[in-house]
Amino acid sequence: MAATYQVKLIDKRELARETFGFYFEKPEGFHYKSGQTLRLTLLNPPETDEQGNTRIFTIASAPYEKNILTASRLRDTAFKRVLKSLPLNSKVEIRGPYGDFLLHQETAKPAVFLAGGIGITPFRSMLVQNLEEKLPYSFFLFYSNRKPEDAAFLEEFHLLKNQIKKFTFIPIMTTVDGHLNGDMIKKHLGDLTSAVYYVVGPPAMVSGMREVLQSLAVPSDQIKIEEFEGYSLKPAPH
Ligand SMILES: Cc1cc2nc3c(=O)[nH]c(=O)nc-3n(C[C@H](O)[C@H](O)[C@H](O)COP(=O)(O)OP(=O)(O)OC[C@H]3O[C@@H](n4cnc5c(N)ncnc54)[C@H](O)[C@@H]3O)c2cc1C
Repeated sequence: MAATYQVKLIDKRELARETFGFYFEKPEGFHYKSGQTLRLTLLNPPETDEQGNTRIFTIASAPYEKNILTASRLRDTAFKRVLKSLPLNSKVEIRGPYGDFLLHQETAKPAVFLAGGIGITPFRSMLVQNLEEKLPYSFFLFYSNRKPEDAAFLEEFHLLKNQIKKFTFIPIMTTVDGHLNGDMIKKHLGDLTSAVYYVVGPPAMVSGMREVLQSLAVPSDQIKIEEFEGYSLKPAPH
């Protein structure tokens, strides 16, 4: 059940270009599942704008990990400027957990993760949690970014490849490989219709993936979608 807590920021790290990870202490009683989200509210921020002081973030840490990790693209908005410059040990308010974007129960069905950019956050949680639980899923992660320097957790996924038995990691750099398409998925999956597909990213990426999966005749009840609304406009090209 969702509850409200004040928690300390204990670390922040640059994970990729314009992308930071924020580590918060995990309060007593805060239990969540991989794929769930929280609402993060800045307390007495030095600046604000019409979007207010609260944003939704997927929890990128695994439930068994000590701290809560959120990761975000730091665009030039009042909320993000304040978050980026927040001194360590400052308190923020979190409310959660929320959401039912959870891994399916039947471990015999492969889990196919399609992530665009910062949409990687729930999949980092699900995969790292599997190091602990060792459930016999087959995982496929298609992770699309413009360039390697834009891709948070890239090295960690390369390491996880060796630690999780049935984990296929397919990084896609759109400046070189083009956009993620049906042929790329077909190349790695034998039986396309037995898997459950998870799509996460900005609205444009999500609608593109919806079309790709439809063209592969994936039944709609085997597709789970989490849209990071708020990234509806394309960022400026680098
Ligand atoms: C279920 C869910 C889970 C989410 N999980 C995450 C997560 O794990 N990580 C994460 O980073 N975000 C996540 N989000 C999105 C997050 O809640 C914010 O909406 C997002 O980070 C944008 O916040 P902002 O402060 O950058 O923009 P806002 O100030 O909220 O601006 C919103 C509007 O302004 C436009 N805008 C703002 N700044 C710019 C700019 N510089 N250039 C162009 N357009 C701009 C946006 O496109 C949008 O239309 C999630 C959202 C949902 C609904």
